[in-house]
Amino acid sequence: MLNNEYLKRVYAQVEERDGHESEFLQAVREVFESLEYVVPKHPEWEKAGLLERFVEPERVVEFRVPWTDDQGCVHVNRGYRVQFNSAIGPYKGGLRFHPSVNLSVVKFLGFEQVLKNSLTTLPMGGGKGGSDFDPKGKSDNEIMRFCQSFMTELYRHIGQFTDTPAGDIGVGAREVGYLFGQYKKIVDRFDGGVITGKGLSYGGSLARTQATGYGICYFASEVLRQQKNDSFEGKNVIVSGSGNVAQYAAQKCMQLGGKVIAMSDSKGYVYDPDGIDLDKLFEIKQVRRERISVYADEVQGAEYHEGCKDIWTVKCDIAMPCASQNEMDEAGAKALIANGAIAVFEGANMPLTPEAIAAVQAKGLLYSPGKASNAGGVATSGLEMSQNSLRMSWSFEEVDEKLHEIMKKIYTACYEASVECGKPGDLMLGANVAGFLKVADAMMAQGVV
Ligand code: NDP
Repeated sequence: MLNNEYLKRVYAQVEERDGHESEFLQAVREVFESLEYVVPKHPEWEKAGLLERFVEPERVVEFRVPWTDDQGCVHVNRGYRVQFNSAIGPYKGGLRFHPSVNLSVVKFLGFEQVLKNSLTTLPMGGGKGGSDFDPKGKSDNEIMRFCQSFMTELYRHIGQFTDTPAGDIGVGAREVGYLFGQYKKIVDRFDGGVITGKGLSYGGSLARTQATGYGICYFASEVLRQQKNDSFEGKNVIVSGSGNVAQYAAQKCMQLGGKVIAMSDSKGYVYDPDGIDLDKLFEIKQVRRERISVYADEVQGAEYHEGCKDIWTVKCDIAMPCASQNEMDEAGAKALIANGAIAVFEGANMPLTPEAIAAVQAKGLLYSPGKASNAGGVATSGLEMSQNSLRMSWSFEEVDEKLHEIMKKIYTACYEASVECGKPGDLMLGANVAGFLKVADAMMAQGVV
């Protein structure tokens, strides 16, 4: 429930204009509920139309992406880039290729990205993009032609001082390579900092592949240690998804003494009471690009269950949702609670529905929002850009150490903001407030633009 009149008025405007964009509305509402704690202290924000500007992207680009399949048939997909807010730095945020991508999804991701990037302590504004193109089942050549067509329009909107995309769902090293190659060809310049998540041979950063997943575990360890004097040691953990974020969250969790007992893809989940064999999982997902069901066919004692949402019914101590938005609903959260889970650390962006968050918080579970706990990916993208500018590359250990430090600082910023708001340990509130205050300050300093 919103109480502050200014927040209510701006939210009503967003509802009126963008009522059909359900994911975007959900993200705005969650942040506005947190801003109740700070908006009344800043009457100058209303005079400056700060919130009205904050919820309106600076620029939205939507474009046609025509491409030809291996049989010579022409297909047309829709491409997007939402340049949400550049108050503290050039727009930065990934590209998602998935059939569910639409303007609402890209806007919610861009909006979240503004606050996340602010939390990283690096000078990055927020943006996001993508397409409703489905890379699944496409040949390498089809993926390449699609990426080239996508970049043939996107290139004019990006640049290392304006907007620097990266990967996200459906956009990994292969896609980033094709996108960068086409950009370089069009502009006739090796502008490495224009996109991150690049391969190591052409300007990528060591540890970027692992960064989001590792960062989640660094953040989670900090929460467990500071708030419960506890750790991953001996804990049974569910990591949903089995893509980039999930794979490396699972790896770091195991390194820290946890046992990952269930993982999923969009069709179903596997349960392995002995702990997921990550070498096998990496081979299935990274090399063979197969469904997760294959894991249960090949690993003794593992079970496969259709339906990814039921993964939360597996008994665990810690849940790390690392697949997609709204993947855990109230029923999922209640199943976790009933099974005695102590924490939910978000790896994906907005993976819990508002009802799931309320359920988890009401029962006092530790909870971290994605914009804080998954910020390690974009933070390391920032480190990749720094290395590109310096024309240097740091070792894996150096990048990993910087990532670890950043995640600790993000935790501290979120925790301190939660204390200032009078709700110590409410990291969702802390992340929203800490992320927003820096952006608000920069926006106020730069005038009505
Ligand atoms: P990937 O494409 O590598 O993997 C996505 C995984 O999630 C796959 O296992 C996929 O299964 C599953 N999945 C996708 N959509 C759904 C769905 N609707 N329901 C259930 N499962 C689904 O993406 P990433 O690992 O990169 O991204 C995962 C999440 O993390 C996203 O929310 C992303 O925005 C967020 N994130 C990613 C960052 C990064 O650095 N990559 C940084 C910060 C956040 P299937 O193969 O069947 O589709």
